[in-house]
Amino acid sequence: MLKRTEELYRGIDKIDAHIHQNSRRTTLLQEAEQEGFRLVTINTEVPDFPTTDEQREIALDIEKLKPGLLSFMATFSANGWGEPDWQIKSLAQIETGIKKGAVSVKIWKNFGMELRDSDGNFVMADHPSLNPIYETLEKNGITLIAHIGEPKNCWLPIEEMTVNGDRDYFSRNPRYHMYLHKEYPSYEEHLQARDRVLKKFNNLRFVGAHLASHEWSVDKVAEWLDTFPEAGVDLAERVCHLQYQAVENQPKIKAFVEKYQDRIIYGTDQIDDGSLPDDELRTAIRKKWHEEFQFFAEDSLQISKQVDKPFQGLGLQKSVLNKIFSQNALRYYPGIVK
Ligand SMILES: [Zn+2]
Repeated sequence: MLKRTEELYRGIDKIDAHIHQNSRRTTLLQEAEQEGFRLVTINTEVPDFPTTDEQREIALDIEKLKPGLLSFMATFSANGWGEPDWQIKSLAQIETGIKKGAVSVKIWKNFGMELRDSDGNFVMADHPSLNPIYETLEKNGITLIAHIGEPKNCWLPIEEMTVNGDRDYFSRNPRYHMYLHKEYPSYEEHLQARDRVLKKFNNLRFVGAHLASHEWSVDKVAEWLDTFPEAGVDLAERVCHLQYQAVENQPKIKAFVEKYQDRIIYGTDQIDDGSLPDDELRTAIRKKWHEEFQFFAEDSLQISKQVDKPFQGLGLQKSVLNKIFSQNALRYYPGIVK
């Protein structure tokens, strides 16, 4: 990091608005405290994560050990979907989350990619069974964060994927590698289902996680943001896709970020499931924060293990960095601990 970047980094009160705190240790919080970050852990029904209720309780317990550093987003379980009391249970789970301080509610890609009805049809994001959830969130002004669909790479063979993280993730998770599952809904079908929800519930506060799954093209992200002028996007695990596009056309990526500077929210998607030793986890998250901040703050030539060629950083001014690394998260998720 250049001296200017270092000063900017130290001078901004930063938020990583997309992590997964699944272990009962404060390692990530300790590192956050040292690096000037606050964290938001997102309860998500990933099969090998603790149950969604457990994830919420972990967040609440860990927060008490280091107050002021960790907020959480609630979710609802798809378990028992299709049973008569599923809606009541899912709404109750959301209500519990909100009462305990959740700053947002998440819907995950198991809607669209996993759950099926009794006829074998996939339950997409716009399935009517979800309407009471959307209505409740809309009525109460609670932000919905959605990870619906996947990066476009997910529908490509491994060797055609653009970034190394996707190659790695989909090699390790073939069940989510849609190139292998032609009978599953297409990339476009997921996004269309999500967009129908946004059209129907047009006052729903909304954040599209992972650049709203349009990560492969800033033109597509821009088009989506123009279609839904109140919605935001988060950057979790997708900064590399901006870097990949910056290899060819850095000015275009810079112009995109500057134009949508009020609607882009920083996050890493760092998971702590207890598997890494403390020092390795601290090194990993610090490295990610430094390198990604450097990409936005500094216009030097940079490299990333995600992207095969060097790219030029964006060299954004402090006011823009401040929005992406802090202010936008506070606006979209107003309950974040201060
Ligand atoms: Zn995540």
